[in-house]
Amino acid sequence: MPRIEDSPWAISVAQVASRAGLSKAVDADFPAPSGIGDEVIGVKEGADVHVSGSFDSIVDGLIFTARISAPVHAECTRCLKPIVKDWTTSVTAFFPYEDKREAASAGEVDIVAGEEESEDTYPLLSNGAFADIEALLRDTLVEELPLQPLCREDCRGLCSQCGVDLNENPKHHHEVTDIRFAGLADLKAQLEREQQ
Ligand SMILES: [Zn+2]
Ligand SMILES: [Zn+2]
Repeated sequence: MPRIEDSPWAISVAQVASRAGLSKAVDADFPAPSGIGDEVIGVKEGADVHVSGSFDSIVDGLIFTARISAPVHAECTRCLKPIVKDWTTSVTAFFPYEDKREAASAGEVDIVAGEEESEDTYPLLSNGAFADIEALLRDTLVEELPLQPLCREDCRGLCSQCGVDLNENPKHHHEVTDIRFAGLADLKAQLEREQQ
């Protein structure tokens, strides 16, 4: 079994987990976990994800607050050009002390413990010695992936008829032969023939 301290996402928090009111700063790059998005839009596994924040101990666990920056690759929704951009997001998560959770699940406060369980809560490992932020990074980044990424706000997109990039060819247009005018032209020709 792999040891938790060998995980690239394990952060030693033993110093602050001992009592309330302590703080441990985190300012480092972590590899992007797998499973963030897909080929079209996502964060490549192993890419540098910068995490800057802190673990702050309270009575029943650690509060983790951080800013997370990750290189997201995507495709412009309008012109399909590839985009690589650093996306930054803030996260707040709770790492409750294990013994508190065990006590809760064994005792009569079951329901309260169930209510406290949320997606922003992650377990501490090795008796509170380590916080593993792999799942936290994945959850946070998956949630933050842009749904409709644009290469720029005013991207003109592609010509709907021939696919030419309208950003590079702003004057591009097609001669439109309107079917109504085609009908009029026929009528005109007919009238001219009758007049002769
Ligand atoms: Zn675009
Ligand atoms: Zn066109």
